[in-house]
Amino acid sequence: MAEKDKRLLHGLEQELRFLSEIGAEFIFAPERESKPLPERREPAQEPASAETHPAGIVRETDEEKRLVLRALEEKILRCTLCPLSQGRTRAVPGEGDYSAPLMFVGEGPGADEDIQGRPFVGRAGQLLTRIIAAMNYSRQDVYITNVVKCRPPQNRTPVRDEIEKCRPYLLAQIGSIAPRVIVSLGKVATDFFHPTSAGMSSLRGNFIEYGKILVMPTFHPSYLIRNEGNKEIKRLVWQDMQKVMDALSRK
Ligand code: URA
Repeated sequence: MAEKDKRLLHGLEQELRFLSEIGAEFIFAPERESKPLPERREPAQEPASAETHPAGIVRETDEEKRLVLRALEEKILRCTLCPLSQGRTRAVPGEGDYSAPLMFVGEGPGADEDIQGRPFVGRAGQLLTRIIAAMNYSRQDVYITNVVKCRPPQNRTPVRDEIEKCRPYLLAQIGSIAPRVIVSLGKVATDFFHPTSAGMSSLRGNFIEYGKILVMPTFHPSYLIRNEGNKEIKRLVWQDMQKVMDALSRK
């Protein structure tokens, strides 16, 4: 077998093992294949001309949203509101579909994210990408961001003042994107929506109502990586994601 084919086969084997470990074998089951995908809105588009879209209103709104979010990203890239800005290589505003029904919120950028200026691109990010794929979405279908937009030194947990300074950015992103469901990854993200002394083991798996948005707390992908051999944690995360998929498929 050619080296290229061996690598491909190895990659596929790993992917199948991962899906089977989290209990996501349904992906290969015919009855789920015919199930319609959870509703998603069209990505933001250029404004249509009066001739092509006489009603215009929806697309104008999308364009306004795109402009607002782009301006916000520019602001984040230049932000100096807290000391994290001094240690960053690049700020990481977030990325994805500005009309996504589903948003993932993590804690803050790590080393890889700081270099690339993109959220969840390191090891934890690769795992998140696989979870998103197992949910039948791609990264482009959802919006991914963090509570703080600049990397804390040595990846320490962001402190209260850093979170507070960054808070308006995430609130503005949520306000514009208006997702139906947010997955909060880990305690810092979950505290953003629902500050409590409870730990993730008791918070995960239960929706929090955040205005009209449902927030599903689940374990952070880094926690899964730190507990690599623990299939139970992966299974719980997958259980949480199934609840998210069910909520998205409800009108
Ligand atoms: N961990 C996070 O919380 N966010 C990232 O973007 C990467 C790792």
